Amino acid sequence: MESEKARLAVPFAWQREQWGRLCQQHADNRLPHALLLAGPKGVGKLHLASAFGCYLLCLSPLNNAACGHCKGCDLNLSGTHPDLLLLRPEDGSRVIKIDQVRSLTEFLSKTAQQGGRKVAVIEPAEGLNANSANALLKSLEEPSGDTTLLLVSHLTSGVLATIRSRCQLLPFAIPSTDDGLAWLAPLAVGQDPEYLLKCAAGAPLAAFALLDGDKLVKQEALIKGLLGVATHNASPLALAAELASGEPLVVIESMQQWLQSGFRQQASGGEASAGRDAQLVNLLAATPATVAYRFWDKLVRLKRQSLSAANPNKQLLLEELMLDWQALARQSRYA
Ligand SMILES: [Zn+2]
Repeated sequence: MESEKARLAVPFAWQREQWGRLCQQHADNRLPHALLLAGPKGVGKLHLASAFGCYLLCLSPLNNAACGHCKGCDLNLSGTHPDLLLLRPEDGSRVIKIDQVRSLTEFLSKTAQQGGRKVAVIEPAEGLNANSANALLKSLEEPSGDTTLLLVSHLTSGVLATIRSRCQLLPFAIPSTDDGLAWLAPLAVGQDPEYLLKCAAGAPLAAFALLDGDKLVKQEALIKGLLGVATHNASPLALAAELASGEPLVVIESMQQWLQSGFRQQASGGEASAGRDAQLVNLLAATPATVAYRFWDKLVRLKRQSLSAANPNKQLLLEELMLDWQALARQSRYA
């Protein structure tokens, strides 16, 4: 497994625990039919799902790893394995449509072309709306043959309960800073990897994604804007108007990450770290729990709303969010 491509079949260093658990379940012949890989965005859940699919379809796996040389591995590494199906929203949509689920049902009903197992990866599971989730239920309830369904979710509370209850949960957390930096540093050419990682609330793949185009500049502007509102130096409505030119989802997910960091800091009683984003986390960590949890619920609801096919009014949604943010900051003991 020397090639760049072959690395696709290997989990990230911080995923040893999840990988070990999956391999053990597989070895014991008690791998669940459907798994829900859940955790913050940008920690590599989809990567792990693909790598595990590659492992399951490898013809001669060795030491809990795909061999990288067999026909199954060749097909997987070139992205053309007929027994692996990846289901993601298409054509700029955020929703996995019912027709896509029907093609999955058809895929599952056929015999594996390479004679082994069949694997389907669905990402994100919260992209399944009521109709498409309904269409998937039968496949979840009555598994056909040797199939494994790997559902990936960045927001489990956004996954319909009927789906959630039929999957075994495999949780993922933000990796340690050391693990994150070890992976990110060689990729962050010309940038400070520590700073990038902080801007992405510790999620390595999200930090890497910030290197793309002007995303880092936008993220820095978001942090500055939120701090401005929190310290009464900027208007929440003006910030909402400014942010409306982008994707509310990016704002919501970033705020979720910071809030999660705040919860962690609160729980550990840890010291505040340096950096602009740390001010945000400190502010959140110093917010009364009831207020912080109410804000979390709001973020979940707005995320669901922005993921819905109904195309909500971006500016209104952001105005609601920024007014809530201002109200939260007023109650923080930090500000
Ligand atoms: Zn192989």
